[in-house]
Amino acid sequence: MTGLYIHVPLCISRCRYCDFYKMTPDEWDNVALFLHCLDVELGRLPADFAPDTVFIGGGTPTALEPADYAKMLESIRRHINLSNVVEFSSEANPGTLTPEKLAAMRDGGINRVSIGVQSFNDKALRLLGRIHESQEAIDGYYMLREAGFDNVNIDLIQSIPGMTPADILADARMLADLGPEHVSYYNLIYEPGTPMTHDRDAGRISPPGDDEEADNYFAVKALLEEAGYGHYEISNFAKNRTRREAGSERRQRSDNRCLHNVLYWQGGEYFGCGPSAHSHWRGRRFGNIPDLQAYCDRLQRDERPFDEVETLSFEEKARETLVMWLRMTEGVDLARFESLTGHHADALCGDAIKSMEEEGLLQRGENRLALSPEALFVCNAVFSELV
Ligand code: SF4
Repeated sequence: MTGLYIHVPLCISRCRYCDFYKMTPDEWDNVALFLHCLDVELGRLPADFAPDTVFIGGGTPTALEPADYAKMLESIRRHINLSNVVEFSSEANPGTLTPEKLAAMRDGGINRVSIGVQSFNDKALRLLGRIHESQEAIDGYYMLREAGFDNVNIDLIQSIPGMTPADILADARMLADLGPEHVSYYNLIYEPGTPMTHDRDAGRISPPGDDEEADNYFAVKALLEEAGYGHYEISNFAKNRTRREAGSERRQRSDNRCLHNVLYWQGGEYFGCGPSAHSHWRGRRFGNIPDLQAYCDRLQRDERPFDEVETLSFEEKARETLVMWLRMTEGVDLARFESLTGHHADALCGDAIKSMEEEGLLQRGENRLALSPEALFVCNAVFSELV
């Protein structure tokens, strides 16, 4: 599988925990120039590139007005062969949704929307610096349904300071009652330089301890599983289903897993367009400059929008794929891993695997290697032994 990622580097305001590259309206209002340069970059991708998945993220793609969003989709359609696409996702911020925008997205081919709810607790949302309140997120979810989207993800953030275990379970219960097809339940990361990190370092907020975090994680996991969600990746859950994708007689999906992320986790290749977007193609990795003005300047001067190109050795690529694939709860299909990377996992890092099997952190099934349930919350320690 191959994928296309589009980074829309625009947000209404800056959330207090976020270090993604983005610009707010007072910093950048030339949306037309960004869309023009994105169009130029898309036009430079290989003519035979036909991705299986497209993911529009950011930033906030839904910060675009409906006509601008439609224009971006038109650029993608004009330059990219979409005949293989089974999943065409967009991120959405609940504070930016309108029926007109959702109609433009749906009419332009989007078939999956990931809505950044983060919490249904208004106090937590204010702490995070989100632009929306809980009710707006709920209204946005129903607006998506009314617009005809039948594949919706809700993002929730775990371990928000000040939330009690009861608050956290209330969030998860609210989510399960809404019943999206997919749930991403992410840990709050304290990125260097963000206001949340300053607050933590100054003692103004206190993140929960590891034991409390682990208890909350496993309690939410149990609640979601009880509600019919399969836990398929450390932070991701999906409802099973069998349905025919609209417009695709040829390919069907048997569940609601996010195929674009599965592609990342299983070592698939992809192009990324837009400022700060990364690509991984034919063993080379490159990242676009995280500066919207510089990105536009370069494309207007007919220069490439990235500086560094990293070429991974086959062994580096294999180790990276092993670690990413282990994030999936079903584990690594060892035969498929070998055919994809040219390495058998045991030949690559057999000593580390053996010792972690003895410690109960990794477990082996028939032709599979997976994290044990106990290792789900300490996966970084496992991964650091394997790279
Ligand atoms: S909306 Fe998303 S990308 Fe924008 S600041 Fe908030 S978390 Fe970051």
